[in-house]
Amino acid sequence: MTTERLQGAIDTLKNTKVRMTPQRHAILEYLFESMTHPTADEIYKALEGQFPNMSVATVYNNLRVFKDVGIVKELTYGDASSRFDCVTTEHYHVICNECGKIVDFEYPGIDEVESLAAHVTGFEVETHRMEIYGKCQPCAEQTTKH
Ligand SMILES: [Zn+2]
Ligand SMILES: [Zn+2]
Repeated sequence: MTTERLQGAIDTLKNTKVRMTPQRHAILEYLFESMTHPTADEIYKALEGQFPNMSVATVYNNLRVFKDVGIVKELTYGDASSRFDCVTTEHYHVICNECGKIVDFEYPGIDEVESLAAHVTGFEVETHRMEIYGKCQPCAEQTTKH
């Protein structure tokens, strides 16, 4: 499953003028395998052993390239550093207020809200954002123990 989706992203990249490099491959692989919505810094830390000449800036630039091609989404939440998500299907995020963990979930019905918004305001609706916030299970358990 992971390899299939990774291959899809690699194929998309091949159809553009973006060159596949070992670094780019490793970053993509990490994104698709971790599924943790990592920051550029986290990706850098995970891969620096493999690529001693790589910097956080390189990771960030590569992520920007992926983003432009449309295989990666940049998630910005307030002033925290951007997190990166490999684009598969439309999905939403539930975010832990304590540890910052982001978990995916799907909820197809919300597209209707876009149609409604377009209908009542006359806007050409392009996109929407929805995030759910709370405490993840491990964090909730920790609070109850205190
Ligand atoms: Zn948590
Ligand atoms: Zn996600």
